[in-house]
Amino acid sequence: MAAGSAFNFWRRIPLWQRILAGLFLGILAGALMGENAGVFKPLGDIFISAIKMLIVPLVFSTLVVGITAMRDPQKMGRIGARTIGLYLLTTAFAIAIGLLASTIFQPGAGVDMSFDKPMESKDAPSLVEILVDLVPQNPIDALAEGNILQIIVFALGLGISLMLIGERGEPVVRLFESFAEAMYKLTEIVMAFAPFGVFGLIAFVAGNYGLEVLLPLAKVIGVAYLASVIHVLVVYSGFLALLGRLNPKRYLSGILDALVVAYSSASSSGTLPVSIRCAQKNLGVSEGVSGFVLPVGATINMDGTAIYQGVVALFIAQMLGVDLSVADYGMIILTGTLASIGSAGVPGAGLIMLSIVLSQVGLPLEAIAVVAGIDRILDMARTSVNVAGDLMVTTLVGKSEGELDEDVYNGPNQA
Ligand code: ASP
Repeated sequence: MAAGSAFNFWRRIPLWQRILAGLFLGILAGALMGENAGVFKPLGDIFISAIKMLIVPLVFSTLVVGITAMRDPQKMGRIGARTIGLYLLTTAFAIAIGLLASTIFQPGAGVDMSFDKPMESKDAPSLVEILVDLVPQNPIDALAEGNILQIIVFALGLGISLMLIGERGEPVVRLFESFAEAMYKLTEIVMAFAPFGVFGLIAFVAGNYGLEVLLPLAKVIGVAYLASVIHVLVVYSGFLALLGRLNPKRYLSGILDALVVAYSSASSSGTLPVSIRCAQKNLGVSEGVSGFVLPVGATINMDGTAIYQGVVALFIAQMLGVDLSVADYGMIILTGTLASIGSAGVPGAGLIMLSIVLSQVGLPLEAIAVVAGIDRILDMARTSVNVAGDLMVTTLVGKSEGELDEDVYNGPNQA
């Protein structure tokens, strides 16, 4: 009886509040229990696996349904161009803000840390390589491997073909509609577990990072977090208000679930099902636009990673007393943008891509070891910005194409 009423009480609390409670209780558990809080990690692992399980079927079915509902291949082209344009533009802002913040606050000045672990450099993928890789040789392989860009290309082709064959495509369209509906339901079911998953993930992180690791690097952490917050609150809100004539406060409250899941999981790909749900239910973006713009964003749009590349590259230069020229700054912007595009939406990807930026401006790759110890803390912030950026662009593209229901956007959250 008591268990039943506790369950009902729990269910009556809005999901976002339950998830936030998971976050704060997780931090508390980590602080009190230290490394022992790792016992809760399996809760987080189960949650992450469950949302990852949704990604491929959800993206595939949503996109096919969305395209067939749009009934206009030209419109798809326009949406694609706007999406890529906005993603690049916001990334340029992001890296500039990262560089500016590091220049003003000088997080590396006076830091004296030794490093000796040699690191291997990575090469940025060339544009041709990226384009060639977009087309799957075998769509089943792409689905099995979870190659999101290839899945998008195949889903676009299938959706457009279904549209072109008209009535004869109806049975398949209906099948996908019903499949997508089931995937939305499954997302809802998995999300009911989110507060526990977030609790487990955060308890583990909070318990593992003692102050002795964080304090020497507190300044660079602070600068990276500050630049991230400014980017979301100023740049994204500004874009929404000026270009979309939309109230940014509604956007910020509508994406909260996705932000907390991104923060605790440090994976924007993993957060994708939650982002899709927030975009459709809270922001009122159509299936077609959210099903296309968000998966593309989770793969290539990484504003938080770009901020981080700028902040950390300057941090390392300052720490080593290296003076960077204007050309070096230009190089950081260029390679940082490419490195952010090339980063996968998984934990730690940005750290590996940092080697591209450092090697281009002649900074020693070994210096990466200094920030590697605190990478998870930085990763949580950059992933949240990455996800917030995808959702902002999705909202703007939806608005510009008449694919945003403003009653839903301005109404209370449904997710
Ligand atoms: N973890 C980030 C993400 O999933 C990528 C990165 O490491 O910068 O978005």
